[in-house]
Amino acid sequence: MRAYLPSYELISAAQLQEALGVLANEPGVWRPFAGGTDLMVLLEAGKLPHKKYLNIWNLPELRGVEVTASQVTLGALTTYTEVQQEKVLQAEFPMLCQAASETGGLAIQNRGTLGGNIVNASPAADSPPALLAYDAELELVSLAGARWVPYHGFHIGYKQMGIKPDELLTRIRLPRSSEKLQHYYRKVGTRKAQAISKVCFAGTAQVRAGKIDDLRIALGSIAPVPLRCVQTEDALRGSELNKTSIDRAKAVLANEIVPIDDIRSTRNYRQQVSLNLLEDFLQHLSA
Ligand SMILES: Cc1cc2nc3c(=O)[nH]c(=O)nc-3n(C[C@H](O)[C@H](O)[C@H](O)COP(=O)(O)OP(=O)(O)OC[C@H]3O[C@@H](n4cnc5c(N)ncnc54)[C@H](O)[C@@H]3O)c2cc1C
Repeated sequence: MRAYLPSYELISAAQLQEALGVLANEPGVWRPFAGGTDLMVLLEAGKLPHKKYLNIWNLPELRGVEVTASQVTLGALTTYTEVQQEKVLQAEFPMLCQAASETGGLAIQNRGTLGGNIVNASPAADSPPALLAYDAELELVSLAGARWVPYHGFHIGYKQMGIKPDELLTRIRLPRSSEKLQHYYRKVGTRKAQAISKVCFAGTAQVRAGKIDDLRIALGSIAPVPLRCVQTEDALRGSELNKTSIDRAKAVLANEIVPIDDIRSTRNYRQQVSLNLLEDFLQHLSA
């Protein structure tokens, strides 16, 4: 049942300082409203308990893409459409572009933002595995100042994360690599479009002199948070690619992930598909 609209408040800020002032004056009272693609679903379903929202869609400080020699920095309001259009992302961060192209349909891609995807903190979200595999960092800003934190470790439990009520996620930073990395991204869902992931896999690595290097692996929908699989990475780093190392990595991954049964899939299916995707990723590397 749709929520009773007059019980909600939505105010707008035109500049970052103004928005931060609203959040600082009454911490926790006003919550950011970006593209609204997650929030509006809850509103329509009558399941949006929080009542007061601060529209941040018009903040210029949260927009744009900045490219330097060592990094690419995206405003938190960067939409999926903008991600797909950005040349440097297509060339160097293709998994993020693929995640964006497989998120929702065109309307969602025009309105949904990377920042919203991160702070909504769904374990099934599609950008987080790519952002984790690219070792992204987040800029969190309040009136007290700005701080950069690694994205790995930002999600600390189901829908819990290291952002304070008076902070906004303002920018997402991706380190550029001088190495020629290989990228492997797979979203497994019920359909090819408009489907929430059953399992989502993002892996990047380089093979040097027959050994795996610069390896990062992250999965979605297999734990309470989007998971960077550091134990599996450790098991593979420096190894030669062969059946023994692949089987060992699969055994480690099987213990590292904690899939659940829910309406979209079963624990067993998620477990098996995750292992299959790891094997496919590693076989792509060896090829
Ligand atoms: C039909 C449909 C299909 C979808 N398909 C997919 C899909 O395939 N894959 C997928 O991952 N997601 C999907 N989504 C979910 C959604 O589109 C994404 O999570 C989107 O990125 C959310 O961004 P937003 O700007 O709309 O967030 P909002 O709905 O505005 O906000 C989401 C949450 O993030 C907080 N927030 C937003 N921005 C900030 C910020 N800068 N700082 C601090 N807090 C912030 C808000 O307070 C809120 O709690 C789908 C949604 C719909 C309706």
